[in-house]
Amino acid sequence: MKIHAIGGYNQVGKNMTAVEVDDGIVLIDMGYDMEEVIENDKEIEELSTKETIETGAIPDDSKIHDKKEKVKAIVIGHGHLDHVGAVPKLAGSYDCPIIASPFTMSVIKRKVDNDRKGLDNELVEMEPGESYQASEGIAIEFVNITHSIPGAVMPVVHTDEGTMVYGLDNRLDDDPVLGDTPDYERLRELGEEGVEVFIGDSTRVDEPGRCMSESIVSTELVHTLDQAYEDDRGVFITTFSSHIERLTSILEANDGRRKVALIGRSLKEYTNSAEDLGMIDLDDVEVVSYWDETNELLEKISKEKEEWLVICTGHQGESGAALTRIAKGDYPIEIEEGDNVIFSSSVIPSPLNRASRYRLDKMIKREGGRVISEVHVSGHAKREDCRDLLMMLDPENFIPSHGTTEMLASHVTLAREEGYTLNEDLFLLENGNTIEF
Ligand SMILES: [Zn+2]
Repeated sequence: MKIHAIGGYNQVGKNMTAVEVDDGIVLIDMGYDMEEVIENDKEIEELSTKETIETGAIPDDSKIHDKKEKVKAIVIGHGHLDHVGAVPKLAGSYDCPIIASPFTMSVIKRKVDNDRKGLDNELVEMEPGESYQASEGIAIEFVNITHSIPGAVMPVVHTDEGTMVYGLDNRLDDDPVLGDTPDYERLRELGEEGVEVFIGDSTRVDEPGRCMSESIVSTELVHTLDQAYEDDRGVFITTFSSHIERLTSILEANDGRRKVALIGRSLKEYTNSAEDLGMIDLDDVEVVSYWDETNELLEKISKEKEEWLVICTGHQGESGAALTRIAKGDYPIEIEEGDNVIFSSSVIPSPLNRASRYRLDKMIKREGGRVISEVHVSGHAKREDCRDLLMMLDPENFIPSHGTTEMLASHVTLAREEGYTLNEDLFLLENGNTIEF
């Protein structure tokens, strides 16, 4: 079995891995690098595949090109853009199906529509617990896992040269607000059956302890809104648009006390998909994204601010997002003295994001608004979660991924504590590397 590290081994972003055995190749994830995309002058949709690879925004899959016919399936583990964003650019060169859970597939379809070039690949929707026979000797299985987006699975590639488990991304949540707990029973069973290679999520491995459950945030959100509503002031809240579980918690914390507005394009897109799949109920929520309708609704809200909860895009201080534009005064509503602006998110740690959030906080505070940050838990496994996974799966070989050099090194230290030895059964890969087991 060969593992080709294509993207995501030098950074958090543009994840892509290829598993190659005699019988064929399986490609897992095709993501883009958010930072590189933001820094580009042009929208990613306007660039060709070759141009996008050259800017560093998507994985360079040229290594696989001369064995294209061997590729039997493209598997996407979940719908975050660093795992799915490059599908419109890359999937079309492979004559094989794309396999994903229903929610992830809804994200793929929308991305492909936005790109306007279309894709001919067959789309296969698969639920956790199900398997797909990609070729005579290759079967793909989805194991249920928890993360910060619905429909996240841990893809498992069963081959006659061994089993590979792909652990990007996940956290271990025993009390999720939406969906089921991780399928620990199956993970342990896989460990007993024998795992040749496990690729693990290193994003938060250097943070001690275990990741808190989403249910803790939902309780915290109730307190946060209780306090915010006491003053009869404006309340704005922002979170990750794809975090349907969090949006559900926000609606539950509000519990009909205020009218709810959902503002911003990505919020509208993700919640539409979630509503179609019966994951969220938006019957009593006003959802707007176009300029005119947003203007109209915000003008109405500005006259009865104390009656509304405004959920909007812009948790990273992105320049075009709703919250930033509200703070800048682009819309007929103002952030005023005593208004609460709640961030149910954390700053994705990069200089660019930190600077944008700093600017946004400053604008809000200048108007007298109160900034309430970090009503949030991360979607990534912390150190002891990572250890649990490694112990459950007990792989013959372990490859840390999804991180900067520091994050990967921290995962190496943890694996060494569990008895692994660097370059014997524990490997650090860089984008472009191949390793054979
Ligand atoms: Zn993710």
